[in-house]
Amino acid sequence: MFLMLLFPKLNKEKEMLDCIILGSGPAGLTAAIYCGRAKKNTVVLAGASLGGQTAEIAKLENYPGWNGSGMELIQFMKKQAESFGTKIEYTAANDIKFNTDGTYTVACENGKTFDSKTVILATGATARRLEIDGAREFFGRGVSYCATCDGFFYNGRDVLVIGGGNAALNDALYLADIAKNVTIVYRKSEFFRAEAVLRDRIAERDNIKCMFNTELKSIKQKDGSDRLIATTTDDKEIETDGIFVAIGHEANTDYLSESIKRDEMGRIAPESLPAGIFVAGDVHSNIKMQIATAVGTGCTAAMDAIAYLNSKE
Ligand SMILES: Cc1cc2nc3c(=O)[nH]c(=O)nc-3n(C[C@H](O)[C@H](O)[C@H](O)COP(=O)(O)OP(=O)(O)OC[C@H]3O[C@@H](n4cnc5c(N)ncnc54)[C@H](O)[C@@H]3O)c2cc1C
Repeated sequence: MFLMLLFPKLNKEKEMLDCIILGSGPAGLTAAIYCGRAKKNTVVLAGASLGGQTAEIAKLENYPGWNGSGMELIQFMKKQAESFGTKIEYTAANDIKFNTDGTYTVACENGKTFDSKTVILATGATARRLEIDGAREFFGRGVSYCATCDGFFYNGRDVLVIGGGNAALNDALYLADIAKNVTIVYRKSEFFRAEAVLRDRIAERDNIKCMFNTELKSIKQKDGSDRLIATTTDDKEIETDGIFVAIGHEANTDYLSESIKRDEMGRIAPESLPAGIFVAGDVHSNIKMQIATAVGTGCTAAMDAIAYLNSKE
């Protein structure tokens, strides 16, 4: 009692948030705008990178109404969310505890914990990176992890697609409508993992060539040109304008318990979530991984969370 009189803060109960949003990409920030406008007491955990994958995009051209960098778009979204009272915490979640009263406690890497009535999971995904010499150096200058985003820049040019699953074949078909020649480089002898319909479509295209049993070991720039030279592990050199890598994505869900159902990429099936937890963006199973879909599912998750909170009042 004496201590509480001296330090009145010790007497204060821990705040119960209406909503905690994990992730500050377009999905998380959209959810934050909706929760803030509904006057729900909301905190966003930004994670290791404010803006997530969108912050990496130098020139964003396929998000309706926008023509600028991804980071500029994120700064607008963040400002908009904050203008409605949402607070941003620069830390990542490392655990979610389910409390017996139906609320949640989120533990963070900086040691803080947050109690909340609802949680929106918007922690995105990470494209598996090509770990060979030059891949990092030429990222954004010829090496891309997103055909729908960057394919446009290769109109009438030559490109390689690395990978052999559905994503790689879809990328190759998409690029074949834009580029002059598409070469799929795959380390196995056939497209075992891809759907038959995609394999058939690839075979029908005159401007798609497949190099099986082939792996790259390095990428360098061709002297005196903006073209690239990719060298295979058996020392064959392939000249190209762009290299699209489609060797898979992994959802960022390390902080979740095993009890939450996930697909083979680690993405969360919304129907498996307990009441009061919602999911949005690239971490959501079964959505196309784009900013427009992240924004759409961020809006849906927030509206579902708001309806859930209102139903409890
Ligand atoms: C190079 C590149 C170019 C692209 N170009 C385009 C394009 O032109 N057009 C397009 O529509 N799409 C493009 N995309 C795809 C697009 O960026 C993603 O689909 C979109 O960013 C997904 O948004 P998100 O909010 O779901 O997740 P992300 O953008 O992945 O954001 C996830 C957020 O969660 C945070 N986080 C992760 N773990 C935790 C944790 N444990 N606790 C709290 N926070 C956490 C991260 O820090 C991040 O803030 C591109 C992607 C890449 C990589």
